[in-house]
Amino acid sequence: MVTRMSSLFVRTLRDDPADAEVPSHKLLVRAGYIRRAAPGIYSWLPLGYTVLRNVERVVREEMNAIGAQEVHFPALLPKEPYEASNRWAEYGDNIFRLKDRKDADYLLAPTHEEVFTLMVKDLYSSYKDLPVWLYQIQTKYRDEPRPRAGILRGREFVMKDSYSFDVCDDDFLKSYQAHRDAYIKIFDRLGLDYVIVSALSGAMGGSASEEFLATSETGEDTYVRCTSCDYAANVEAVHVPVPDPLPYDDAPAAHAEVTPDTPTIDTLVDHLNERFPRDDRPWHASDTLKNVIVTVVHPEGSREPLAIGVPGDREVDLKRLGGVLEPDEVEAFTEADFAANQSLAKGYIGPGVLGSENASGIRYLLDPRVVDGTRWVTGADKPGSHVIDLVAGRDFTADGTIEAAEVRAGDVCPNCGSALEAARGIEMGHIFQLGRKYADALGLQVLDENGKLVTVTMGSYGVGVSRAVAAIIENSHDDSGIIWPREIAPAHVHLVAAGKDDAVFAAADELAGDLEAAGTTVLYDDRRKVSPGVKFADAELIGIPTIVVVGRGLADGVVEVKDRRSGERVNVPLADAVAHLS
Ligand code: ATP
Ligand code: MG
Ligand code: MG
Ligand code: MG
Repeated sequence: MVTRMSSLFVRTLRDDPADAEVPSHKLLVRAGYIRRAAPGIYSWLPLGYTVLRNVERVVREEMNAIGAQEVHFPALLPKEPYEASNRWAEYGDNIFRLKDRKDADYLLAPTHEEVFTLMVKDLYSSYKDLPVWLYQIQTKYRDEPRPRAGILRGREFVMKDSYSFDVCDDDFLKSYQAHRDAYIKIFDRLGLDYVIVSALSGAMGGSASEEFLATSETGEDTYVRCTSCDYAANVEAVHVPVPDPLPYDDAPAAHAEVTPDTPTIDTLVDHLNERFPRDDRPWHASDTLKNVIVTVVHPEGSREPLAIGVPGDREVDLKRLGGVLEPDEVEAFTEADFAANQSLAKGYIGPGVLGSENASGIRYLLDPRVVDGTRWVTGADKPGSHVIDLVAGRDFTADGTIEAAEVRAGDVCPNCGSALEAARGIEMGHIFQLGRKYADALGLQVLDENGKLVTVTMGSYGVGVSRAVAAIIENSHDDSGIIWPREIAPAHVHLVAAGKDDAVFAAADELAGDLEAAGTTVLYDDRRKVSPGVKFADAELIGIPTIVVVGRGLADGVVEVKDRRSGERVNVPLADAVAHLS
């Protein structure tokens, strides 16, 4: 294919857009790949859309190669499946909600576990049907609190999400490994510098969880890496080990004193009534509350863990809620309440959890959102082993923020004992074990070999497809512009007709046609009234890895071939150009 600059819908810009902070955002706008439509929402222009589809192609090929099957679900979905899984409440302000003309609730899906689970439930009923791996490449919607950095964190973005369905955990591990292998191939082909870090599974619950982070200073994730071996882990995985729960009987009998700084359930309830008054009736300590932000967990042992909840409103000032909860008060919340909230307790949507343990051995966890931007996550697969043990001042500052980037003195690599260092990354992919969270909530069971009903076990695997477009640029650009890997670039070759003579254009036209015939895609700068200087600057900005100039050398029968990354130029006889470039 030959795309002619003279008719291409593009306008390159000399200046950085005022709202752009990171290189990828600046360059994508300047080079005419994207335009902002609203905060965190972007339109794709022809060059950008080509690149996006190239990324999709790589992802699709590698997913198909492991035997995953592509499907396509609606982005607009009714609330009921998300209510069944509790995520309608859990997601809080993070989802876009809307109503139809009959006043029924809908959402623009932020991720699709529920409806994939229901689809498999609809069609399959036997172990013989499993495993099955389904994926889609689809637009997702999340009302991110801080959309930033252009398409790196959009409120509308393209994700590849896949889901594996297995009859048992051993089989699940094979599904997980196959996806992990596919992800390595995908990110290699995308030309990203990345690390695979173990991660906690956040909103999704489950235990096995790894993230693929593109190494970049502009990333919002912090991970630690070993200074001598290849160990890398997300900070919370290192800094917040999940300790063995205390046996309940060992817990001291004495209760810590309640001070004004350590509110009880009553002050919690007062707080709710003050900040979130309800029309029908005031908040009461025994309410079954929808969106858990405070979780009280008895240590495992003689007792079931208990949880309490308060409504999910991110305005809650958790420091006011933090403190000691008397066991008697905790027991005002029944185990049934806990069961109702269990999936929330298992996997909280949100960036983190602060927690501690009081003198009576009851652990309590405070709202994650107080540490916005960090990811000290729950996601323990059994209640009672949530993230605990954080110390104020050490793990989070007085204003409730965690200094996640700080690697504490004395932290060493668990593999080789060398020092660890902190680094930043962009989350490009996330693979994790969902376990039976969704299958339980939505009743996905199959008959096993013995004719017994078993609950299906699931995995969930995401790739940030539109984010990858930006992350590749974060990894690969210079002062003049973008430098694409060949497979992702909007064309293989950027052909510049540099000069005024008709002979230059005639030779360039012919070369463009010959390259096309050889299967090489060409962006051909055939503009007549644009100076060579402007064309060269545009070529550098747009970032196609090979730039071919038909110009002065034509008299000697050569064209200049420039490598965008190294800047190296060679003259190639016109007659050899196609062979050289294909
Ligand atoms: P992050 O920690 O960056 O908010 P996440 O953990 O919320 O990402 P997942 O739910 O794991 O994201 O979604 C799978 C993938 O989708 C992520 O690994 C990331 O590459 C991509 N992604 C998530 N949120 C966004 C967004 N707002 N814009 C672009 N891509 C995103
Ligand atoms: Mg997120
Ligand atoms: Mg994340
Ligand atoms: Mg993630």
